[in-house]
Amino acid sequence: MKSTDPLAEPLKRVVGEKTAKEFATGLDLHTVGDLLYHFPRRYAERGNLTDFASLKEGDEVTVLARVSHVESRRMRQKKGTILDVVVTDNTGSLKLTFFNQAWRAKELVKDVKGLFAGTVSTYNGKRQLTHPQYQLLDQLSGQLLDDADVGERHLRLVKDNDAVGDSVAIDSFVSGLIPIYPATAKLMTWRIAKAVDIVLGRVADLPDPIPEQLRVERGLPDIGAALHLIHRPESEADVSRALDRFRYQEALILQTVLARRRAAFRELNSVPRVAREDGLLASFDEQLPFTLTDGQIQVAGAIAADMARSYPMHRLLQGEVGAGKTVVALRAMLTVVDSGGQAALLAPTEVLAQQHARSIRAMLGPMAEAGMLGGSSEGTQVALLTGSLSAAQRRRALLDIASGDAGIVVGTHALLQETVDFYDLGLVVVDEQHRFGVEQRDALRAKGRQPPHVLVMTATPIPRTVAMTVFGDLEISTLAELPTGRQAIATHVVPTHERPRYVARTWERVREEVAAGHQVYIVCPRIDGDDVDTVAEAPNADGSDSDGSDSDGRAPESGAAPESVLEVAKRLSEGPLAGLQLDVLHGRLPVDQKESVMRRFADGAVDVLVATTVIEVGVDVAAATLMVVMDADRFGVSQLHQLRGRVGRGSSGGLCLLMTRAEAGSPARERLDAVAATTDGFELSRLDLEQRREGDVLGASQSGSRSGLQVLRVVRDEAIIDQARTDATHLVEQDPDLPSAPALMEQVRLALADDRSQFMEKT
Ligand code: ADP
Ligand code: MG
Repeated sequence: MKSTDPLAEPLKRVVGEKTAKEFATGLDLHTVGDLLYHFPRRYAERGNLTDFASLKEGDEVTVLARVSHVESRRMRQKKGTILDVVVTDNTGSLKLTFFNQAWRAKELVKDVKGLFAGTVSTYNGKRQLTHPQYQLLDQLSGQLLDDADVGERHLRLVKDNDAVGDSVAIDSFVSGLIPIYPATAKLMTWRIAKAVDIVLGRVADLPDPIPEQLRVERGLPDIGAALHLIHRPESEADVSRALDRFRYQEALILQTVLARRRAAFRELNSVPRVAREDGLLASFDEQLPFTLTDGQIQVAGAIAADMARSYPMHRLLQGEVGAGKTVVALRAMLTVVDSGGQAALLAPTEVLAQQHARSIRAMLGPMAEAGMLGGSSEGTQVALLTGSLSAAQRRRALLDIASGDAGIVVGTHALLQETVDFYDLGLVVVDEQHRFGVEQRDALRAKGRQPPHVLVMTATPIPRTVAMTVFGDLEISTLAELPTGRQAIATHVVPTHERPRYVARTWERVREEVAAGHQVYIVCPRIDGDDVDTVAEAPNADGSDSDGSDSDGRAPESGAAPESVLEVAKRLSEGPLAGLQLDVLHGRLPVDQKESVMRRFADGAVDVLVATTVIEVGVDVAAATLMVVMDADRFGVSQLHQLRGRVGRGSSGGLCLLMTRAEAGSPARERLDAVAATTDGFELSRLDLEQRREGDVLGASQSGSRSGLQVLRVVRDEAIIDQARTDATHLVEQDPDLPSAPALMEQVRLALADDRSQFMEKT
């Protein structure tokens, strides 16, 4: 970075060495730019005291409050005094206690207003602020400070706190809106405000990351004006003018990064892959027992066009469970095999890899048995490579992969190992993208002689704007309709405490389904009494790490231990489901046992499968018609939606019963009601997003980081993101290095250099 960039100036030159160190360690702010982009969290209004009702124990808070009571007393045991100060928001109160600081009574007098910072705690049933720090609004301006004693203390404070002492007059408090910054116990908001004042007074002519023409067209304030507006607003209108600008700026930087990445893909060379007219794809289509839906035909067309080009396809295929993605992906794989290449399918778990291999072999029939007795001479082979193969099986699979005999290779992470050598890898299909990190996909990509085409499949409906940000460098296809003949899934909430009758009825219902020749899943949040978080053992439905939506403090509403697979299986087999064939499936079973349980369930030998979320993704048993979810409130909204996609995969329809001990009207119950009320996965994933912090959605990394998303919200700011995407695309089309927008390019570089912004690599 050029030293002329005023934003790059180290903070220590502005606020002094000692304070700069505090900013660095406490808030990770190092430069003038870091500080200027450290926006206020909120604004206190001079006339409006902070509502204490919202304060939670343990919170570190800064409140605007009024002193209502002051009392000094002697300590009983030791020498010294205690000063008790009570501050109020006009309804509630907080107690502040100072030891041996009786002099503070001179400035903390009744009715004085100020900012008070500390940790909220409770003592003897009364709420207090421990380690209180404060800044009185009119400090230094009133006659309070004429007192010689107080004056001397102030001098000392100023000295102790170097340039940005806590007793220095603050310009930022002059206006009606008082900025409250994200602060620490040592770096109180008023010290940050003071530092910002100094910096704001010094910077001029900042390079504007938004090109002038765009800025004017969009009616946005320039960078200097916007920084003043956000740090020192005089009105709410100022704040929103500034926010409009910074939201657009964040969106523009992000979309420029993504547009550049799309442009870079086009510079890569891949082998174009086209199906032969008399090839495997044609035979496959001929023997397909159903006709493709319009949606499948359309997506297949887009994929075929992508793969026929000489740069790599980079496409995301999203569609509900059962939307028919696998068929579309298999057609793409056959296209590559037709062209003489190989296709790899990466699955997130062994169970899924095995299931994919099995169902692909079944769909291909004799076409998958090339070189075998009775196999088609035109066909290919499907190799399965997972971690649990025997040495001999593994050697065999590696050989088939290296020789090219295996046109289709299905596997787990084992596929990514260096010892796996492809003959000619032309396509990588990634199933359920969120289990695979970028490095893993890159590792696989590096196995092609030229970059292979990439198709990412996800059953998690991703709201458009999230797709445009998190997956913004992928082309996106959506299979919106389910193949005809599939039945909708009815979902009901069963409140176990309020309606014990419904519980009994649920088990009767299970028996009825089994009597009708159907099968049942019972899903529990835990394996047994010991495990804490096994609910998180399968990939989550919402694109986050699996623990994202299950273990983020979603405690059981009742306080009782959540239901577990082993306990539920025992209780039911000895009680209401006695006589039925029950079996259990969970992540702690050995792989071969998991596999055999799944096979027996698929064959109908098991009536009722009691399982954890291992069955969440991709498990396909057409005779399964009923799912009972125990302690359903322990699961995320999207996850429940994903889970219930396991039933009703045949023609008999599906029923999902969500058991819960959560009280009527509780947030947990409302989430379950929402799941019961709609089968629209997009709506549910939107709901999920709204309930989660943005950091969880885009990866925790970027919240607060200068190059990350501070003020942009992907759900709320759809129009801004849209606009920015169009603008960024135009800019990059002119020249990816943005010669006409050097300040934007600088921000793009920063975003890429900042390793905290890995989220951009998340695709
Ligand atoms: P997804 O991978 O999206 O979950 P699948 O491709 O596994 O969906 O399809 C789910 C089921 O629907 C499979 O049994 C598949 O054979 C069937 N299927 C797929 N496409 C169609 C179609 N066009 N018409 C009828 N059935 C279909
Ligand atoms: Mg599938």
